[in-house]
Amino acid sequence: MKVTYIYHSGFFVEMENVCFLFDYYKGTIPDHVPEKPLVVFVSHRHGDHYNPKIFELAQEGKGVHYVIPKDVPYKRELDMYEKKGVPLAEYITVVRRNETQSLALPNGVTVDMEMLASTDEGVAYLLKCEGKTVYHAGDLNLWVWREESKQYNHNMQANYFRELNKLKDMKIDAAFVPLDPRQGEDAFGGLEAFMEYARPEKVYPMHCWKKYSIIRQFLDKHPEYAGQIVKIEREGQEFLQ
Ligand SMILES: [Zn+2]
Repeated sequence: MKVTYIYHSGFFVEMENVCFLFDYYKGTIPDHVPEKPLVVFVSHRHGDHYNPKIFELAQEGKGVHYVIPKDVPYKRELDMYEKKGVPLAEYITVVRRNETQSLALPNGVTVDMEMLASTDEGVAYLLKCEGKTVYHAGDLNLWVWREESKQYNHNMQANYFRELNKLKDMKIDAAFVPLDPRQGEDAFGGLEAFMEYARPEKVYPMHCWKKYSIIRQFLDKHPEYAGQIVKIEREGQEFLQ
C-alpha cells in the first residue's frame, strides 16, 4: 500500500483496489483513478479533522463514499449538493462508537469497520480490507494534561486503556496515532501505550501541529521502535509499505 501524509491527521492510503482518505481538513489530496473507489473517513467534527470541502470530491463522479460519525454537521451540505444534482446522502454511511459495520463497494471490495470510542469526540477506525488492517485513531489518545484535575486524568487513563485493550496483540499493517507536542512531558504516553498493546507493522505519528521533531524525540527515547515508527518530515511525503 502507498501512504501519503497530507496534513495534521490527514492521510491518503492507496490499496490494491480501494483508496482511503482520513481526517482531511487542508492540504493537497493525491489524485486517484476512478477504478478504485475512494472512501473518505471523518473521525469527528472538530475543525482540524473535518472540512466540508471533502464533499466536493463527490462531484467528480469517481465513486466516492463517506463514513461519518453521526454528530458531524453535514446536513447543510446534503441540501446544497442535492440542489446541484449530486445525491450525496446515497454516498454517506453514518457510524457510531462501539459498533461494527461492513461497507460493500461497487467493485466488490468490502471494508469491515470497527468504531472505537474516542477519548475526545467521535470515533477511531479499525479497518480490515484486502487482508490488511488499518487503524486511524482520530483523537483517541491519552489526553493527560498537567493542568487538569487528578480525577480527569485518572478517567482519561481508564478510558484510553479500555479502548487499547481492543487492539491487544493485534497485527496492524498501518496505524495512525496522535503524538501531540502540546502535552509537554505527557506527549509520549498515548503512543508508548499503543506500541506496548498492539503489534503494528508501521505507525504514522500524527496531530503533531507541524512540529515533526517530536517524532525524532520519541525515537531518541525509544530506539527499539525505529523500524516501526515512520519519520514524517513534511506534508505530501509518500511512503510505500
Ligand atoms: Zn484534533
